[in-house]
Amino acid sequence: MIGTSDRLHLAIQKSGRLSDSSRALLRESGLRIQHGKNDLTARVDNFPIDLMLVRDDDIPTFVRDGVCEFGIVGRNVLEEFALGEAEPAYEVIAELGFGTCALRVAAPEGKAYDSPASLAGERIATSYPRLLKRFLEENGVEATVIEMSGAVELAPRLHIASYICDLVSTGATLEANGLHVVDTVLESEALLVRTLKPLTPEKEEAAEMLLMRIRGVLATQDSKYIMMNAPEEALATIGEILPGVEAPTVIPLAGRPGHFAVHAVCQESVFWETLQKLKAAGASAILVLPIEKMMM
Ligand code: ATP
Ligand code: MG
Repeated sequence: MIGTSDRLHLAIQKSGRLSDSSRALLRESGLRIQHGKNDLTARVDNFPIDLMLVRDDDIPTFVRDGVCEFGIVGRNVLEEFALGEAEPAYEVIAELGFGTCALRVAAPEGKAYDSPASLAGERIATSYPRLLKRFLEENGVEATVIEMSGAVELAPRLHIASYICDLVSTGATLEANGLHVVDTVLESEALLVRTLKPLTPEKEEAAEMLLMRIRGVLATQDSKYIMMNAPEEALATIGEILPGVEAPTVIPLAGRPGHFAVHAVCQESVFWETLQKLKAAGASAILVLPIEKMMM
């Protein structure tokens, strides 16, 4: 019987750009998320874990304090938080591949920019003051950082600042505000983080199980199962072409001496170019299959 105190807590964004993908990752990991009346937490009925549904800005604090053993949060939010901490507060367990964006410096049309030195003496508006200050320091530039909690892209038009430093994914919002990207401060994506506070043995066991599943889901996302037939003399070349394969399975084909079936799990994307190369090397009947589950 597992009591409440033995349940893990995972903080995810309640609603926003990371919520859907965070939930999807957990569902693919086999967690059945219950939607209770309480909006701040969600129970998982087939795994000893509860979800905390919070604002993304609060996730690093929860994980630091061990209130939540795990959290899913953007690298941008996490590093901005970490720069304000005296000691490390968490461990990054996995890069999750969603929520990709970048913290970039942008300038109004016509404003010249050659290198970070162009920012010297300028005013730059941002919601990420610590990351921006670190960027300026690393480049030996002195500039004034204007902290804004939102609508940063309006700052140049309002003459609050001459440059901005903001999160960008496609750049459409910047363009709509007459701005263009001139430099990059940080590339970001969603991360799975874990508290540095020690866990009870029961929680540690559940944590290991959860991580194994999440790693399995992440591994299958890019992986494909590939099968083909090939004559013996083509096997070495095929082995070199297969992306992210350590040791393919090679099985003799019944009734066709000197011919083999090659099966392998490709840990990287398999492109049409790869198939064409395999065919040119002598492979035939090439099949690429999705992998549903994987445990390494
Ligand atoms: P909350 O109410 O939880 O504080 P928020 O408004 O701070 O939400 P969102 O806009 O939902 O946050 O973004 C959450 C995270 O999604 C960002 O911190 C970032 O890691 C990621 N992200 C991906 N693309 C973008 C983008 N184009 N603009 C902003 N954030 C993005
Ligand atoms: Mg936020």
